[in-house]
Amino acid sequence: MNIVFNHATFRERADMLSFLRLCRERGVGTVSIWGDEITKTGDSNALAALRDHGLKVSGYNRIGPFLPDYLGRAEAELERAAHFGADHVFLFTGGLVEGERGLIAAKRRVEDQVGRLLEIARRVGVKLAIEPLHPMLAGERTVITSMTSANDLCDALGHGIGVVVDVYHVWWDERLEAEIMRTGRAGRLLGFHVNDWLLPTRHRLTDRGMMGDGIIDLKAIEEIMRRAGFRGGLEVEIFSTDWWARDPGEVMEIAITRCRQIFGDRPEATNTYRRRFEDRNSIRPS
Ligand code: ZN
Repeated sequence: MNIVFNHATFRERADMLSFLRLCRERGVGTVSIWGDEITKTGDSNALAALRDHGLKVSGYNRIGPFLPDYLGRAEAELERAAHFGADHVFLFTGGLVEGERGLIAAKRRVEDQVGRLLEIARRVGVKLAIEPLHPMLAGERTVITSMTSANDLCDALGHGIGVVVDVYHVWWDERLEAEIMRTGRAGRLLGFHVNDWLLPTRHRLTDRGMMGDGIIDLKAIEEIMRRAGFRGGLEVEIFSTDWWARDPGEVMEIAITRCRQIFGDRPEATNTYRRRFEDRNSIRPS
């Protein structure tokens, strides 16, 4: 089983160099990285560490939000991602801009903006990745809020852009299986982010769960991904104040263990680890 660690899961207590060293020590050979963390470390130091530890780069985070001057900065960022050997670059479109109401015009605008970025990305030689986010985030984070929207966007734009499936954002979608299969048929499944949806969820952005602590049927979604032809790794991406507060090496070990239990040969262990069982039984009426 191939695990990918996203630096965002550990960055509160591990700078980029520490993160890369901790990954190497635990035998994790692929990472997803962030431009702002590279800047703090310095490009040459970050590149040297990746090379010295023999690490591959999956995702590069990220292009966006799409403010008026985004194209100028995007080109340098895409070149940097290519320089780091990233498999794909995340697009963070941002939500509605001043004066927009509803999603129709905003989606049209985003399609146009992504189209222009795609021309640059093709020239630079990196793939763009669209990651649909949960519809609760449509206002301020992205207007692409379902696998259907992401696939429609890719269909409209042609080659060089694909989709990252993050269970946190799409687990609720009754079209999930059909749309993952559609993504697979089009040859554009770029990544698979794993974490969990906690009950109750206390914050939309910073209360994600460790795999196995929530209500997502992770194994079922992974099986769909495999059936759709995805051969990449399980990327652990957990934005959580609880997990950020803990020792990053320990969090890595827990994540590896959970991945083995859930996706490996011993799925019977998953329910043992519902850390928030008590919370689940005290859901506030709404
Ligand atoms: Zn994600």
